[in-house]
Amino acid sequence: MSEAPSLHSRRSITLRFDIPISKTHEFWELLKNGKFVTTRCTKCGNVSFPPQADCPKCMSGEFQWVELGRDATLVTFTHVRTVPASFAGIEPYIICIGEVEGGTKVLAWLEGVKPEDARPGMKLRVESRTSAEGNPYYVFVRA
Ligand SMILES: [Zn+2]
Repeated sequence: MSEAPSLHSRRSITLRFDIPISKTHEFWELLKNGKFVTTRCTKCGNVSFPPQADCPKCMSGEFQWVELGRDATLVTFTHVRTVPASFAGIEPYIICIGEVEGGTKVLAWLEGVKPEDARPGMKLRVESRTSAEGNPYYVFVRA
């Protein structure tokens, strides 16, 4: 069976993401300074993560910042072996859900842990990082 006739082209593309953070910029500023916070709706009390300017439960736009702390417990994880095109050049990685004190679940990369060593229930800690573009982000590491 022969391959269908086709034209091939290989070009690099640059993906640009502009994520509006006008109402939640404080989260990123605090993260840079070592604090890990999120939003709590002042109308219904719902705690959201990532921070939400508008409550996903009652749609109120009124919220307050609450400290999450940095200690967490690994709930589940997956080892991403086939890296998406937007992460080309990055080694396979682990992405996980960690539960912080109070029950809020946080999705983040898990750094410094081999897939065979990751276990639900293991103690984690949130750490902040700065991307090559200068953007703050957060990861889990083993506690
Ligand atoms: Zn609410």
